[in-house]
Amino acid sequence: MAKKQFKAESKRLLEMMINSIYTQREIFLRELISNASDAIDKIYYKALTDENLVFDNDSYFIKVTADKSSRLLKIRDTGIGMTKDELENNLGIIAKSGSLAFKKENEAKDGHDIIGQFGVGFYSAFMVADVVTVVSKAIGSDVAYKWESTGADGYTIEECEKDSVGTEITLQIKENTEDDNYDEFLSEYRLKAIIKKYSDFIRYPIKMDITGS
Ligand code: ADP
Ligand code: MG
Repeated sequence: MAKKQFKAESKRLLEMMINSIYTQREIFLRELISNASDAIDKIYYKALTDENLVFDNDSYFIKVTADKSSRLLKIRDTGIGMTKDELENNLGIIAKSGSLAFKKENEAKDGHDIIGQFGVGFYSAFMVADVVTVVSKAIGSDVAYKWESTGADGYTIEECEKDSVGTEITLQIKENTEDDNYDEFLSEYRLKAIIKKYSDFIRYPIKMDITGS
């Protein structure tokens, strides 16, 4: 399948992420959980005006799954999902180019905490993952799509199977290097601590399931 290219700004931000000058990699989980929560909010607000849609609390949650042996970390939500166009438009370009402009301006001063403060969202996944796969089924849609990227070299989109509406993001967590430890992002203890630190205020349940050794 031919790879589609990211827009120029996105490419630069991605490169920055991948070559991570940034030390606080753990914030990727905050970004992905907050996106999941936003997606559930969208269903919640839709249900307020759409009488065919009932928001029953038990059906809306975020689930974090990790498998140490395959090094896969998944963040699944039962939110509004994305159509093919939305996958292209929302994940193919940087929504908040402001954070990049800000970053450039302040680079000389302190390259460290800017991303942490402003959030670059989805792309932060590439700080910890070699491959990011997003499978999503939009509300009202019969088909699901899979978006996949290994980083700055572009992404692919294809039709796929998914039973329920919502989004599942799978991160193929990087191998440890001499200088960097990525195993921590597959550890139940660490994941719990990161969620507690950054996502304590999320108003939907965050479930967890950690397997492998
Ligand atoms: P932001 O959240 O600031 O808009 P992100 O980079 O975090 O920027 O996300 C970009 C966009 O991708 C979101 O605005 C949303 O439209 C879409 N998106 C990301 N994750 C999800 C998700 N789990 N469910 C639905 N849409 C999502
Ligand atoms: Mg976001």
